[in-house]
Amino acid sequence: MRLSQYFMPILRDDPKEAEIVSHKLMLRCGMIRQEAAGCYSWLPLGFRVLKKIEQIVREEQNRAGAIEVLMPTIQPADLWRKSGRYDAYGKEMLRIKDRHDRDMLFGPTNEEMITDIFRQGVKSYKDLPRNLYHIQWKFRDEVRPRFGVMRGREFLMKDAYSFDLTREAGQHSYNKMFVSYLKTFARMGLKAVPMRAETGPIGGKDSHEFLILAETGESGVFFDRAFLDMDWTAFDIDYDDVGAVARVVEDFTSKYAATDEKHDAAEFDRRVPEAARVTGRGIEVGHIFFFGTKYSEPMGAVVQGPDGKMVPVESGSYGIGVSRLVGGIIEASHDEAGIIWPEAVAPFKVGLINLKAGDADTDAACETIYKALEAKGVEVLYDDRDERPGGKFATMDLIGLPWQVIIGPRGLKDGIAEVKNRKTGERENVALATLLERF
Ligand code: ATP
Ligand code: MG
Repeated sequence: MRLSQYFMPILRDDPKEAEIVSHKLMLRCGMIRQEAAGCYSWLPLGFRVLKKIEQIVREEQNRAGAIEVLMPTIQPADLWRKSGRYDAYGKEMLRIKDRHDRDMLFGPTNEEMITDIFRQGVKSYKDLPRNLYHIQWKFRDEVRPRFGVMRGREFLMKDAYSFDLTREAGQHSYNKMFVSYLKTFARMGLKAVPMRAETGPIGGKDSHEFLILAETGESGVFFDRAFLDMDWTAFDIDYDDVGAVARVVEDFTSKYAATDEKHDAAEFDRRVPEAARVTGRGIEVGHIFFFGTKYSEPMGAVVQGPDGKMVPVESGSYGIGVSRLVGGIIEASHDEAGIIWPEAVAPFKVGLINLKAGDADTDAACETIYKALEAKGVEVLYDDRDERPGGKFATMDLIGLPWQVIIGPRGLKDGIAEVKNRKTGERENVALATLLERF
């Protein structure tokens, strides 16, 4: 992509409406634009990041055996009357009437709808287990939408729903999602610590929230420092190996970790040596619940068991805040100059800077490199604008692409490009002849 032809409305100054760094940076980089409180347009740069995150989530859900579907954003109220949640959900639910005066709503979550889909499609234990998920916009009329996409009203969520015959089988489905979450977040460069959680209005038995550490997080967190030293990369296990999956869960739940809602100070002191007690703040990026027959019973989602008897299925639901993650990753990875994207979610991998646009040799060299990178499938944003180098450097640092390739007349004379690593700040002279091999 050529910057001269792109749409990236950069703001020079910090926008006044933004309180936290991720919100400021997203506005300054022209990633989003607010349309109403808690509702955002995703501009090209932000949209690319959102899609990258969504794709990682999708790949890891698929790998763990979940199957993708897509349910509508608008749901009939009658479904929610069956589960008894229509009245219980309160003002967070956006209620709508259609032209025939029927009660509809903009879905805040999908337990009812998926249970109904499942009920009509599966009749026998032989068709279990199943896990269905979708990645779809949700609406929750939050009292205080704030912090940009972190607490929006309209936000993108991945929600998966598991269906099993027995409690034990359901536990394995829960464990698979638990492990896939560790892996999903690790691929984005995050350590999302699983913490025992309240089940809230969705209700249930077993529940964990996944939180990343950030001063601006809305939850207080208390955990054992040992978490941070664990191996956050070794999740390449066989998801059908019940024991292996359970062992990872065991490992990641054996140490103390709790949000303020579940924190027990006495237990914390007893279980964690003083030097290892971490207290701070965190951002909830994922939440998993096991709720058994809470929805299958009232909604009649029953299957025929091996003994011929009809039994309600055991279920869980598993959410990831896809749009919240865009802000969350920035909170976890930035410096004074701007965003530092982990490579896996970066909007482009390389920022190519032409130091002297208009100079025939520099333009030609940049053009060659740009085309060669594109041909190789490397995502590159080429700053071909006729602007001062200082401004170009500042913009590239601000938008945080992992690599900058800097081309100017002086380097070209010696046949070299300068390559800068945004994260470490290291600069290196690389011979033009070997530049492509770097990416
Ligand atoms: P919170 O406690 O932050 O209000 P929640 O517990 O109500 O969230 P869940 O029902 O667990 O949310 O939703 C699953 C995930 O969706 C959350 O872990 C979070 O990452 C994301 N999410 C929830 N509410 C919002 C929101 N208003 N804006 C952006 N993401 C959200
Ligand atoms: Mg939650």
